[in-house]
Parts: sequence; structure tokens; C-alpha cells
Amino acid sequence: MKNNCVFCAIEAGEIPSERYYEDERMIIIKDIEPKAKLHYLAIPKRHYKLLDEMTEADREDLGKILQTIAAEAEKLGLGGGYRLVINQGDDAGQTVFHLHIHILGGQKMEFEQL
Ligand code: AMP
Ligand code: ZN
Repeated sequence: MKNNCVFCAIEAGEIPSERYYEDERMIIIKDIEPKAKLHYLAIPKRHYKLLDEMTEADREDLGKILQTIAAEAEKLGLGGGYRLVINQGDDAGQTVFHLHIHILGGQKMEFEQL
């Protein structure tokens, strides 16, 4: 598996997945174990584990990724709003160590649910 990383393998097409959005820096897929009615993952194509490992290029990408999420929200069925979550490390329950943004919505989100 590419980089021994499930998201690198998805990005490389080694693991098939439906891409709801793709450009040169990111993909948006559905989470395989949804924690809300709609649960997508925005995944940068460049592999890094944690926010504190970001390069200058990653920094620029992440800003663009956030803008893209906002621009695509309506098409993703998230016109009523959505929540973004980035888990960092064990206490947050991070399981895939390739930075990604959870996009949750399609329902009223209780803060306690997280
Ligand atoms: P985190 O706990 O923040 O590291 O989130 C990792 C997320 O990736 C979890 O919500 C998993 O359900 C999800 N996930 C793991 N493998 C896959 C996969 N092959 N396709 C889609 N989502 C996945
Ligand atoms: Zn990776």
C-alpha cells in the first residue's frame, strides 16, 4: 500500500473510492463509517500526519482546501450547514495518520455528539 497509508492508497487508486470532488491538491470522499447523516473526508493529496508537520506548500493548500469545501458544500447536500473536524493525535481518537478534515452534516449537529 502506498506509504503504508490508507488515504495515500485511495488517492493513488489502489483502493477504489467514489470521489465527490477532486483537484490537483485534494479529494473529497465519503467516510466508510459515517458519524453523521452526511460524512465526507477532505484529504490533501500530499501526505503528512499532523498539523505541526505542515510545510509552506501544505499551509497554502489547506487554506484552498477550506475554500473548496465551502464552495462545494451545496453540491454535497450541506446547504443547511456543516461541521469540520480535524482529529490530532491519540486523545482526539485519530486513527489515520494522514491529515484529513471530516465534513459532517445533513442533520442538526449536537456538540455533545463529538
Ligand atoms: P480519524 O479518526 O480522524 O483519523 O478519521 C479516520 C476516518 O477515516 C474514520 O472516520 C474512518 O471511518 C475513515 N476511513 C478509514 N478507512 C477508510 C476508507 N477506506 N474509506 C473511507 N473512509 C475511511
Ligand atoms: Zn498518506
